[in-house]
Amino acid sequence: MKCVNCHAVETEETRLPDHQYVDGRFFEAKVKGSVCPKCGVAYFDGPAMEMFDIKIALVLTSCHGLTGKVCRYIRKALMLRVDDFARMLSTDVETVCAWESGSASASETDRTTLMSRVLAKENMYTPGLVEVTTTPVPPENRWLYENPKALASVMAGLQQAREGKLVDGPSSADLTRMLKMFDNENKET
Ligand SMILES: [Zn+2]
Repeated sequence: MKCVNCHAVETEETRLPDHQYVDGRFFEAKVKGSVCPKCGVAYFDGPAMEMFDIKIALVLTSCHGLTGKVCRYIRKALMLRVDDFARMLSTDVETVCAWESGSASASETDRTTLMSRVLAKENMYTPGLVEVTTTPVPPENRWLYENPKALASVMAGLQQAREGKLVDGPSSADLTRMLKMFDNENKET
């Protein structure tokens, strides 16, 4: 693939880091992509990005109890509109809307149906486009992950961990330090 930015140069295949946070779970991935050796612009592979969503949906459907946020995430990962999603689960649009808003819960039968649909979709992709790891986020730290600026601090902490400056990722002490950093940044702006 030629670099769209500087046109002339062939990009080199690589694995690009990406992350997502969904309702109490943090997902990190190495996604298939390429990088331009000249200008450094990174290109994510489209199907690999879709597969990241599907891998997340698979983890989420294997957890008991689907929250509204999780239901919505799974529907989006399957690339379905509310009416198509409702039809797939032999229910109506109102019910799906109630699930997604959290005023009603999907049943165990719905969860297993969703899981098999997600699995079927996963099988449509070439294996190995993306490697995903997931960690549960304790309730007291979730606001950090829900805030893009705070999440950037968390990611900086994880990067330090990978460079060997911290052991085993952010500990609660590291998170406390990041919280302080985040508070100071807010004071400055
Ligand atoms: Zn380039």
